[in-house]
Order: sequence, then structure tokens, then C-alpha cells
Amino acid sequence: MVSSEAIPFAKTGGLADVVGTLPSRLAELGHRCSVFLPAYSRVFQAGVAVQDTKVGFVVDMDGKPKAMRLLKATVGEPSVDFYFIDQPHYFERPHLYGDQHSDYQDNCERFAFFCRSVVRAIERIGLPVDVVHCHDWQSGLVPAYMRTRMGGFEWYNHAASVMTIHNLAYQGRYWVNDMHWTGMDWRYFTMERMEFYNDVCFLKTGITFADMVSTVSPNYAQEIQKPESGCGMDGVLRGLGDRLTGIVNGVDYQVWDPMRDTLLPQPYGVDNWEVGKAACKSHLQKVLGLSVDPQVPVIGLVGRLASQKGWDLVLALMEKSLPCNNVQWAILGSGEHRFQSALQEIANRYPERVGIRIEFSDRMAHAIESGADMFLMPSQYEPCGLNQLYSLRYGTVPIVHAVGGLVDTVTDVSDYTLQDGSATGFVFYDYALDSLSECVDRALDTFTREPMVWKQVVETGMRQDWSWTKSALHYESLYKRACAMPRTIE
Ligand code: ADP
Repeated sequence: MVSSEAIPFAKTGGLADVVGTLPSRLAELGHRCSVFLPAYSRVFQAGVAVQDTKVGFVVDMDGKPKAMRLLKATVGEPSVDFYFIDQPHYFERPHLYGDQHSDYQDNCERFAFFCRSVVRAIERIGLPVDVVHCHDWQSGLVPAYMRTRMGGFEWYNHAASVMTIHNLAYQGRYWVNDMHWTGMDWRYFTMERMEFYNDVCFLKTGITFADMVSTVSPNYAQEIQKPESGCGMDGVLRGLGDRLTGIVNGVDYQVWDPMRDTLLPQPYGVDNWEVGKAACKSHLQKVLGLSVDPQVPVIGLVGRLASQKGWDLVLALMEKSLPCNNVQWAILGSGEHRFQSALQEIANRYPERVGIRIEFSDRMAHAIESGADMFLMPSQYEPCGLNQLYSLRYGTVPIVHAVGGLVDTVTDVSDYTLQDGSATGFVFYDYALDSLSECVDRALDTFTREPMVWKQVVETGMRQDWSWTKSALHYESLYKRACAMPRTIE
């Protein structure tokens, strides 16, 4: 696998959870998996021993020689090898892609270097490769190098490529003059391959050169083929036909299960969640400085502070509802400054009812998933979403917008779904304040007035299995299909 993030080494979002977990599930199925990542500074703070492989070489970045060293760590049992492309000028930085104001100016150069180093490193260490699974735009050049035989490496002859889109909105799109960093011939700068409205686009490159393309839920795979959700690439994606598929992400229940979660004040399972969640709720209320009250419903949110996650609707709902209803909010997020300050400002006005943490904190994410009564995800779009899956297991009823993977994973409470035992959460259909507000009111009403219904919904969610076991089998068949694809050399 080639990725820019993987737990436990580097994480800004769900991509890291997927690439940190899927390889070990594949290893359990008997496959040998290696993961390639950039050697960011934070890789060395993950508490895992990282060794020098003594492999190093120089990549010619358009006349600028750039040296790299290959580092390695081995994780888990059955084990997965993580290889790190070490180049301090490109990767020894406080953040992965940029600070809170803007992306790093040289991201095109950084990730072109990363992709070029990966294909060469595979050759140098003689890794036996059947499939290279690339994740998101940062690794999008790799399928192009494989198909065009750039560098002429032997291993290209045996390997298929898979490109997974974790979020179509992040495309790695750069102005045409950056094309030279990729090392690709200009004849590939066409709308069938690397060009996207006069720019060079890493994600489109990966999509058009890979043998198979996947995204992280079946519903998102359908949505992105429509103009309104296709981010300009719907035509390219429609053109893939059955080379495009969707596989829902799994949850790592080693990390996200209230029965064994060492970060909780009290573990709990489906048989004793009422007691367990009560302890977690009062812990959360204390930690966030909220008034400690078991009766008040707590709505939790964890996520990047980016407009995708629906923060404008959340802020509008808080402004509307805080003066009139007795609800507490537990919010964790990091990202855009405008959302940080708006949230902080509301928290200052309602200190006992709004607890905000502007940071990236696993501990706090677990505290909210376990201590909140409901979990809000009003995303504008959501390729898969992991937090709703964690929420289901933690008995924290999800309230979600009907988009992407949220549709595939949360079943709305209705008379019908309560009767057939499938109801797991509350779903709203229009991305608008009224629709969200009506949905949250439905959830609050059920929580306060219908404890038996609430119990059923909580327990249905807690019993569901969203583990990687199923998804890993789907990936295994995807790899088989990729290997069977006829490949032409360009
Ligand atoms: P995305 O990948 O779009 O950010 P997902 O729901 O797929 O959204 O995954 C987000 C992951 O990142 C989850 O594991 C979530 O708990 C975690 N996360 C997001 N923001 C934070 C934060 N501020 N602190 C801790 N974990 C966070």
C-alpha cells in the first residue's frame, strides 16, 4: 500500500485508520502486506522502533538531486512492514500537508518525490509485489509509473494497481508548470490521463491509470458518478464502468470497542451499557466543565473543522436551540480558523452547556464517543465516515445527513424500522437547518420520552458488526479482479 497517512504513525482523518488497519486484516487472511509512507517528524513519535534499512538513493527532481533514505518499522502479529521515505527537506515539518492557513506550496513536488521514491524503493529491496494499492491523490502517480514503465523496473511486469478514493474533493491539482515534477512525458498531459481543466491532477492520474478503482462505500461510488457530487470528475468515473466499486471501511474493534477501551473510566458492553455510559457521561461532563447531570442529553461531535463536515449547520443549530432547550454539546475538532473561533465564542456564552476542545486528541475522541448520548454528523458529503460506526458500537445514537457512506451504515428510526428491528439512528434528507433541527428534535424526544425505543435503537447499533473482517474479504476480491485485468504498456 502507498499512502500519506496510517495509524499509528501519521493521521489527519479516516484515511489513516483504513491504511493502519486493513493491512493487518489482510495479513490475517494470509497475505504479506507492506505500507509506504513519508517519514514525517511525527513518525518517530509513534512509540514504534524505526530502523534504517541502509537503502538510499538520489531522485532527480527536474535537475535537482534529492537524496532519500528508506526506513522501516514492523508492527503487529501477523506483522506488517511499514517503509518510510525519509527526505527531511520535504517531510520534516510540523504538519502533513500545510498549516491552518494554507497548504504547503511545494506539495506537488513533495508527493511527486514520494511516488517516485516508492516505485524505486520496491525495486531496490526486491519486494515481491502482486498488487500496489494506492490511497488518495498523494499516491496517484504510482499507477501511472507502473503502466508507463517509468524507470523500467522489473517488478512492474508482475504487479496490478488499485486506486482508492477516500475523498474525491481532495484531488492534488496543480498548475500545468508543475507537470515537470512528475517526470512523466508531456504526451500524458491529456484529458484522458493527467490533465484536469488545464491543470495536472494526481488523483485523476491514479484513476485513469489504475487497473481497478474503489471508493469507501457503495453509495459514494454511485454519488460521485453524478455531476452534483462528482467534483468535475463524474464523466471520468462513469467511464470506468465496472472498474469502479465501493467497499465500506471497517472499524478496528481492538481500538474502538467500549468493552476493551482502556481510555474509558468504565468499560461496558451491550448488556450493561446503561451503567457504563452513565459513568462515561459524567466523566465527559467533568472533563469539559459541563454541569454534571445524567438527565441532560449530550450531543457529541468529533471531526475536522472543514465545511464538508457541516459545521455551518451545527453552528446555526446551536444558535437556534441553545437559548431554548436543555441540551449539552461536547465538541472536538481541529482545522479551519473560522470554525474554531465561532465554536469558541458560543462556548464562552454557554460554558455549562457547551464543551469545546480545539485539538487533535484520541483520548478526547474516545471520551466523546463513550460519554455522549447521541453523535451528530451533518456532513455535506461523506465518502464513508468512521465516527458513525464508532458511535454505533459505543451506544451513542448517530444523527446523520443522508449522504455517502452514512446512507449505507445508519438506518433511520421509523415505525417500520423499529418493527423489523433495523433502526439504528436518525437521518435527515435536506442539507438545511430546518431539516436538521427537526431530526435532532426527533432524537431528543425519543431520548427523553421513549426510553424503551431508545434502548432498542442503542442495542441494535451496538450489536452490529462493522469490523474489517468483511471489508478485507471484499478488498481481497478487488485485488483478484485487478490482477486479472489485461494490462497494456503505454
Ligand atoms: P475524515 O476522514 O473525512 O476526516 P472520518 O469520519 O472518515 O472522516 O474519519 C475521521 C477520523 O479522524 C476518526 O477516527 C475520528 O475520530 C478522527 N478525528 C477527526 N478529528 C479528530 C480530532 N480533532 N481529534 C481526534 N480524532 C479526530
